[in-house]
Amino acid sequence: MPTLTDTTLIIRCPYCMAGIDFSPMIAHKDGRFVCRDCAHTVRPGVPEYRCTCRPCLRLSRKPLLNDHGSRLLTQ
Ligand SMILES: [Zn+2]
Ligand SMILES: [Zn+2]
Repeated sequence: MPTLTDTTLIIRCPYCMAGIDFSPMIAHKDGRFVCRDCAHTVRPGVPEYRCTCRPCLRLSRKPLLNDHGSRLLTQ
């Protein structure tokens, strides 16, 4: 009997909602999880992994120059 830890691991996309929940991401053979809807990818256990999907690129493009205590509305 293999352990159920791998099959019960469900990673949900932080950007996409499926009904009332976030949409589950699909496990790939290389260890990554990929979202069907926005192509967001994560690598469980690799915090320095950088996803290059559209929502992530939009987040990383936010300038961090205003992070000196005073919050500016940069939307
Ligand atoms: Zn997604
Ligand atoms: Zn992403």
